[in-house]
Amino acid sequence: MAANEFTAYHGYSLFTKTVIDSALKKVVNCKKGGGKTMRMSNLYMPTLRETPAEAEIPSHKLLLRAGMIRQLVSGVYSYLPLGYRVIRKIENIVREEMDRAGAQELLMSAIQPRELWEQTGRWQDFGPEMFRLKDRHEREFCLGPTHEEYFTNIIKGEVKSYKQLPLNLYQIQTKYRDEKRPRFGLMRSREFIMKDAYSFDIDEEGMKKSYDIMWKAYDQVFTRLKLKYKVVLGDSGTMGGNVSHEFMAMSEVGEGVIAYCEHCDYAATDEKAGVVYKIDDNQEELPIEKVYTPGVTTIEALKEFFNVEASKFAKSLVYNAGGKPVIVVIPGDRELNETKLCNYLGIAEHELEMADEGLIIDITGGNKGFTGPMNLKREVKLLIDSRITMMKNMVIGANETDHHIKNVNYGRDFSGEVVEDLLLVREGDTCPQCGEVLKMDKGIEVGNIFQLGTKYSASLNATFLDENGKERPFVMGCYGIGVSRSMMAIVEQYHDENGIIWPLVVAPYHVIVTVVNVKNQEQLELGEKIYEELNALGIEVLLDDRNERAGVKFNDRDLIGIPIRITVGKRANESIVEYSTRKDGEKKEINVDEIIPLIKEEFQKENINF
Ligand code: ATP
Ligand code: MG
Repeated sequence: MAANEFTAYHGYSLFTKTVIDSALKKVVNCKKGGGKTMRMSNLYMPTLRETPAEAEIPSHKLLLRAGMIRQLVSGVYSYLPLGYRVIRKIENIVREEMDRAGAQELLMSAIQPRELWEQTGRWQDFGPEMFRLKDRHEREFCLGPTHEEYFTNIIKGEVKSYKQLPLNLYQIQTKYRDEKRPRFGLMRSREFIMKDAYSFDIDEEGMKKSYDIMWKAYDQVFTRLKLKYKVVLGDSGTMGGNVSHEFMAMSEVGEGVIAYCEHCDYAATDEKAGVVYKIDDNQEELPIEKVYTPGVTTIEALKEFFNVEASKFAKSLVYNAGGKPVIVVIPGDRELNETKLCNYLGIAEHELEMADEGLIIDITGGNKGFTGPMNLKREVKLLIDSRITMMKNMVIGANETDHHIKNVNYGRDFSGEVVEDLLLVREGDTCPQCGEVLKMDKGIEVGNIFQLGTKYSASLNATFLDENGKERPFVMGCYGIGVSRSMMAIVEQYHDENGIIWPLVVAPYHVIVTVVNVKNQEQLELGEKIYEELNALGIEVLLDDRNERAGVKFNDRDLIGIPIRITVGKRANESIVEYSTRKDGEKKEINVDEIIPLIKEEFQKENINF
């Protein structure tokens, strides 16, 4: 609605005939199929009083209880009418910002043939996360977990000249990933809605420009969605390329761990964050000594037994990496970063698993808990975090059950393949950018942008002719937004113990008109009138005309989180209603004439034109 319509409208009686006539027309239209308004007596909104046992986090509990989503099987959800309205609003904001940034929308199939994925090696790399199927002719397919191959393939041969570049294509589509641990409802599901965009450029410089444009568009999207978020450096993993950023909606329940610096702009996921500390130990190297340590297998127990700090131990972890055993040695007081390990080894994360006891005994000769880098039984890849080379007189497992060795020194007593950094970042580490102290936080990854380079175009042989008539592969970027995950993230940031508090931009409806007692004719009539008036102005209204107790209606209203509330009760005969917002809950009695200016104010506060 244009602002002047508001002003022009206000000052006349609330209920003019023309407005009501057009409102009625719209109501009739609505009944034919989804629309701007809804009578709750007709609405399919199966709310739950009890929290389903499957739900652990507030957003999951509330979306289930509010009758907005339902689980079919683990990690597979349906969006019910109220929930689907939110999804569509998020999609529209994403769509508007993508279009504004010059990307073009299309829609691709979810089913993709194996051959396409074989060409980039990702039929293998995706491993068990990929849903695979065969058709009646035994031809193999997957349900797309992402679409780099497909997008590259679709422009291959069609976009022939540099004159047609840059090009950015996107879709909003259902993705399938057989996640190892589907959980938290829409947060990590096996079927989910993603916006994915792919940019094609002539060269690196062009790709970086496209990347910046998308970054800005993402800032717009998440700002409009009212999410509090941080942009952090990400790990590119098997996606390819070197540079990527993640958009993290701040939340305690987020699975994303962020290391950030308050003194400079450094922020990275824990998968990516560099650990840069050095050890300055000038101790004299002492002779090694084997020590009988019966049943002492943990760092805690070792600390007690030897009466020294955890940092004096070297932890040796045995992995099965893509079928080959690997031992990784890191300081006893630190954790290994498995992503860094996979990147170093050039394997996908699903190919890495902790070795079982049998393999450990086979390689080391000792039981689990007594592994070390000396006296191994078999030739095995031995990776050493660089900090180990700076430690003096450390304690290691002896590769013999119930024994450790003390006063061990790198170089003198053992050696291996030294890797600069295999450690997981932790609070208090040094900022790799400015040297100050890092802090940690948690977030929900709602978006991810990647500079891919030519990984896909080169392997799929997707080329164009440059201005000199030379054939070159497209330089690509890809950009994802988790639409369904964003809905969950919004609820995580906007709720209280009674329910969801939707920001106006994504709320399933803007206003709820609650008729306290539908058996009272005056109340019902006034409620209907307000409902129709607001509808005529293009405001999305729910009318609670259910024959339910007032308490039930108020509870449902809190639960489903409609931002603006009008309660039509005892003073209906005087044209007095109660007005409040879900956000602050403060109630005031107003004359019906004040409704529209108050609603207008709410929209203005949120910077929304309609
Ligand atoms: P994660 O690290 O959380 O598994 P990802 O790095 O695998 O995410 P991308 O491949 O970059 O995710 O996908 C783009 C976006 O899609 C993510 O930023 C996220 O918002 C969303 N997304 C990814 N996996 C899921 C999932 N299983 N359920 C819901 N949304 C998802
Ligand atoms: Mg993933």
